[in-house]
Amino acid sequence: MSRGARLLRSAGLLLALGMIGSAAPPRAPFPVDHRNLRRTVSYEEMAAFLDGVAKPGFITVTEEARSTEGRKVFLVRLNRGGDKARFKVLYYAQQHGDEVAGKDAQLTLIRDIAARPSLLPEDVDLYLMPMLNPDGAEAHRRVNGAGADLNRDHLLLAQPETRALHRVARRIRPHLAVDSHEFGRDSEDYAKRGWEAWPIITMDACNHPLIPDYLKAAALEAVASAAPLQARAGHAYRRYTVGGPPPEEEIRPSTSEVDDGRNGMGTLGALSFIIEAGVRHRAADPSADLGERVDGYRILYRHLLGDRAWRDRIRRLAERARREPLPPFIATNTFWANVGGKVSAVKVRDLATGRTLEVPTAMAMTDLVVKGSVPTPRAYAIEPAAAARFIPVLEAQGLRWEALAAPRRAKVERVQFLRLEAPYDDLYQRYKDRQIVARQPQVDLDLPAGTLIVPLDQDLARRAIQVLEPCLLYGLYGYPGFRELAQPGAPLPVSRLF
Ligand SMILES: [Zn+2]
Repeated sequence: MSRGARLLRSAGLLLALGMIGSAAPPRAPFPVDHRNLRRTVSYEEMAAFLDGVAKPGFITVTEEARSTEGRKVFLVRLNRGGDKARFKVLYYAQQHGDEVAGKDAQLTLIRDIAARPSLLPEDVDLYLMPMLNPDGAEAHRRVNGAGADLNRDHLLLAQPETRALHRVARRIRPHLAVDSHEFGRDSEDYAKRGWEAWPIITMDACNHPLIPDYLKAAALEAVASAAPLQARAGHAYRRYTVGGPPPEEEIRPSTSEVDDGRNGMGTLGALSFIIEAGVRHRAADPSADLGERVDGYRILYRHLLGDRAWRDRIRRLAERARREPLPPFIATNTFWANVGGKVSAVKVRDLATGRTLEVPTAMAMTDLVVKGSVPTPRAYAIEPAAAARFIPVLEAQGLRWEALAAPRRAKVERVQFLRLEAPYDDLYQRYKDRQIVARQPQVDLDLPAGTLIVPLDQDLARRAIQVLEPCLLYGLYGYPGFRELAQPGAPLPVSRLF
């Protein structure tokens, strides 16, 4: 680069930083028009920006945790209405350090709201956690500083970043929550066919069977009603799905058990979403379309805030879901199917021509099927020998429990562990580490002193079920530290109480 070009470039940078020119918007490490963003914001830039943008009584920045490598996990609260801001919103991003667009979108939103406060409705209490995994972000890698995939840590909450997220969520109790990720558009499977995945921005809602249907219906309504907004902005948008290219490979919403069931905030009583932007990893410059991804994100973040009537409706539905009694049965084995063999057209982008093709397939699975369920117990009992292993999890999850000081008579259903199916199931496209168990007949017996009792008449009962129910196909016993507690032929340390 010539000296002149370098000078020009730094002048452009200064202009972008707001250091010269108009004094109005707060200094920000990104261009005035977010659609021109070509480089993600680093941890240091973000920390300096948040420091400068904080404004007492309006924008509050707090440190919620320290990462393994000592970086801060920030929470940004934007609130103009004080106590009148009753609609609680939590948007979080960058659990995977190399998935950046959600973070960049949140930072540009903060910049814009700081410059024009009226963008934030007075009844909205908006909380953002733009960079949950700062160590991964700095190294541009998926895992955190301890080498853990945070998105697989929502049961155990063994990592400081995930513990902080759930602590914040329980403190806020959001009515609306969004997890933010990115996926590769140009996977090998697609490239082999001369295609790339069509969407650049996708969204899906909570699917978990423990979430009341009215909440799921409202969420899917928001997924569908975003389509014209994205079309108007020129972004390829559809409901978020996982799977390979059509017509042979399965395409389905993300699994209700592993993905949104645990990682989302739906079972806390929130309208819960995942947004994923599509990245061209093999492109010469994968950041060339960062501005477009950020724009797609911003459209969804703002769309989900809706208007006053929508927010009041969602607040009522979410609060009703929190009071909803538990269902009499718990789904333990679910999967996505195509009931009746419907044929759908799935869009792909042809690389040679740049054209959008519609590929017919019968492998688009959008019907959630429950294949196994068990009666909902009154409580769970954890045997004394396993108590030390479970207590940190119960505490991190904020669950209520008691340790028996003396033996107690109870109707107990033990669950025998049969085997762990470790490999990914290619035929049925099921996740690895399926735990296969057999329920034993109920018996009256004395639970010994030291047994931990986790009752299901508590506020976070749905969360307790997700963590503790021993009959779930995907549960604790695939994880190190718990795997050893499951011996083939022996009862699991958690029993079901009636
Ligand atoms: Zn991700």
